[in-house]
Amino acid sequence: MAEKEIWTIGKILKWTEQYFAKAGIDGARLDAEVLLSHVLNKERIFLYVHFDQPLEEQELASFKDCIKQRVKHTPVAYITGHKEFMGLDFKVTRATLIPRPDTEILVEAALRRLPAGEACKGIIADIGTGSGAICLSLLKYLPNLQAVTVDISEEAIAVAKENAVKLEVDSRVEFCQGDLLEPVQDRKFMAIVSNPPYIPEGDIAGLDSDVKDHEPMSALVAGADGLDFYRRLLTEASELLEEKGFLAVEVGIHQAQQLKAMAENMTQWENTEIIKDLAGIERVVVLWKASAEG
Ligand code: SAM
Ligand code: GLN
Repeated sequence: MAEKEIWTIGKILKWTEQYFAKAGIDGARLDAEVLLSHVLNKERIFLYVHFDQPLEEQELASFKDCIKQRVKHTPVAYITGHKEFMGLDFKVTRATLIPRPDTEILVEAALRRLPAGEACKGIIADIGTGSGAICLSLLKYLPNLQAVTVDISEEAIAVAKENAVKLEVDSRVEFCQGDLLEPVQDRKFMAIVSNPPYIPEGDIAGLDSDVKDHEPMSALVAGADGLDFYRRLLTEASELLEEKGFLAVEVGIHQAQQLKAMAENMTQWENTEIIKDLAGIERVVVLWKASAEG
């Protein structure tokens, strides 16, 4: 990139798109636009109506810094510090997984099974909350709901707390640092939701550089077959559910049927539901607590 040239928005977007594409970045144009709108602190649409506007020196310097990070495969969300999820803006840092669009299937599944709107007055738990994406979206869309969240990472909890304040749901959520269900042993919930780590150790090497070299491994890896957290959740969660309560979890590819088989071998669950994502992959498993009458 020549220093003395005048770089307009249109010209630098084109240059960056080509540079990213050569560096093997998928979605090169979109990434260039998201990063430039971040630097300019404007919506993406602004870029399109200001193609001829030249960048100021400081803007150019900040954008160059973003480009350098992105060609090292730093995910865009870690560069901007934000990710949209369920139409809401979440702060993310390297201590938190970047919320995935697939996880919206889990939120929607929970929304459809909890009482609607203001009638939803109970308390839920979100296990492995990360940025808080799942639970804070549910709180935002269900104004009388309360939640307890757990994460093993103190840094992730600090980010989730900031998100709760920003989304104005902080008065309805409690944060616990600890191991899975251990901090909530004495509680009862109308539902437990979780997107735990589920990637088998052996699959990590094959992940995209964006994920494996930048996102926290403690948010992703779950033993030899990826099922370690589900084994514990399926064994321990039903006791913490109220009558007619459910456990809803996101799962990785080919894991839904394994969870279904596990649950069918246990007396505490009945009626397993499996929900597919937009790509047709079985993505969410909902297990209902078996009724006390048996
Ligand atoms: N819920 C967020 C989302 O969907 O974007 C984050 C999900 S991420 C796949 C899994 C989260 O579980 C991470 O934030 C990680 O720190 C947390 N975690 C890992 N091991 C845990 C454990 N033993 N107990 C509680 N949380 C754990
Ligand atoms: N869906 C994430 C990925 O493919 C994994 C999230 C998880 O382990 N829960 O990178």
